[in-house]
Amino acid sequence: MIIFRKVADVADYLSMQRKEGHTVAFVPTMGALHQGHISLIEEAKKGAQLVVCSIFINPVQFNNKEDFAKYPVTTERDIELLTGAQCDVLFMPVREEVYSKDYVARHYDLGPLEFLLEGEHRPGHFQGVAQVVDKLLDIMQPDSLYIGQKDYQQCLVIKQLLGVTGRQTTVHIVPTKREASGLAMSSRNLRLSDQQLKKAALISEVLRELKDNVQSGNLQQLIANATDRLNAAGFIVNYVAIANAQTLQPTANMDEPLVALVAASLNGVRLIDNEVLNPPSKS
Ligand code: AMP
Repeated sequence: MIIFRKVADVADYLSMQRKEGHTVAFVPTMGALHQGHISLIEEAKKGAQLVVCSIFINPVQFNNKEDFAKYPVTTERDIELLTGAQCDVLFMPVREEVYSKDYVARHYDLGPLEFLLEGEHRPGHFQGVAQVVDKLLDIMQPDSLYIGQKDYQQCLVIKQLLGVTGRQTTVHIVPTKREASGLAMSSRNLRLSDQQLKKAALISEVLRELKDNVQSGNLQQLIANATDRLNAAGFIVNYVAIANAQTLQPTANMDEPLVALVAASLNGVRLIDNEVLNPPSKS
């Protein structure tokens, strides 16, 4: 695996590779890698000749300074995991490489998605995501982009971003990789004790229950029960929501494709997860 730290170097290398006819798949990450990230690399390997991963903790997508300061960094282990997964290129820039002194933040039209759910609880977050993804796509010019369903709303935002910027990059959404307990793998799990990790699995449990019971049609009651269970276990719940799977607008219409989403903090560590509930009953 070749490691680059400079924008110009990785851009030159990939441009040369493309000239030789190699297809490029890109997997952006913030590091503290786990098997969820590795599953993205594995999928990307199937779809392109060259797989590029980036590790960059993007400051402009953190609305909470403490969350940014405490974001786990495990660089050596990340390199080991990526090497093991036969990732071809790793781009690990410092902040100034991505956001130079004269960088002017662009504003992206992300539509209503920007302000729902995560957007409501993390103001500015999706503009920050859009900025870094657009910037990285400019550098990498990949044929395809691999992202995780774990960050469901982010997937929709990135698709919207590609639309408004007119990029032809193909997006692949990879299913959420989970621990045996059902807990969605996440870099932030590193901040939880063993006991908290066990408790955190309740998020996936309530999501599975929502999925199992959605046909009852009593969505408000299901949401209230799920919220109560999380509260009772000591979570601070930001939201438990059932929404249209494409727009994330709240809905109780069972004919729409539905997704359930949860954001809740345990011991100051904010966790998110989701479960697609039903294929639409009419297409
Ligand atoms: P992050 O490093 O958290 O910014 O995540 C980088 C990419 O990995 C994003 O596309 C995430 O959606 C994806 N990802 C994170 N956790 C998982 C997981 N448990 N399963 C699959 N993909 C994931």
